[in-house]
Amino acid sequence: MLPLRLVASLVISGLALLLMGIALSFTSARAATGTAPRDYGRDYDTSAYRYTDKPAPAAATAAGSRTLTLYVDRDFDPAERERIGLALRQWNHVLNGLVRFRASLLPPDPSDQTLAQIRRSGAWIVAKVDSRHPAGRERTALAMTVGGRGGGFVYVIGDRFPTRDLTAVMLHELGHVLGAGHDPHGHLMAPVYDRSNGHCIDRGAVAMVASAQHLPLNQLNWCVGPGLDDGRYSNR
Ligand SMILES: [Zn+2]
Repeated sequence: MLPLRLVASLVISGLALLLMGIALSFTSARAATGTAPRDYGRDYDTSAYRYTDKPAPAAATAAGSRTLTLYVDRDFDPAERERIGLALRQWNHVLNGLVRFRASLLPPDPSDQTLAQIRRSGAWIVAKVDSRHPAGRERTALAMTVGGRGGGFVYVIGDRFPTRDLTAVMLHELGHVLGAGHDPHGHLMAPVYDRSNGHCIDRGAVAMVASAQHLPLNQLNWCVGPGLDDGRYSNR
């Protein structure tokens, strides 16, 4: 585990000013809205959802394409790494080559020097922490993304949710990494976690990222399926 050292390096690197990290929460707001709790014991059926598949824009093959480097904490076990990989692959499909995530494992027991080097490079670190970590201070938080254009941290509070939800949680957090905020009426970027919203990247989330990254929305992909209505929410 490297949580405390990561916090130290965060402060040292001057990111402290950006410490208003964006937490993805669980349960509290659901109770407030009075909706019945869903059955979280089963996997949500995603078979009705699919991604658009537009041709890669010319810029994607030229030097104009940008890469975002992500270092994944070795505390994630192989099954968890696979879940994180699924989220990265979906975002790479959505971004259609205009921006690309490239992931590698964080070196084992990284020195402060290595961490500082990674931070300076503008990369992101996906760290597995538990409820005792400062990122878990808010009791309902599942994950927290802290950072900005110069990189940062995605803290995954691993003891707050089952592995099967990790892809959905990471899809949401990677939205923040790409500059999206929360949308109370959105699906993937809703501030409160709901498995039925987190299974794919809807047009609303893609639109926020396109705006933050100055990308042409019509050249990006997104998820279509029941309730999504090509990104404009159907009346239910
Ligand atoms: Zn969030």
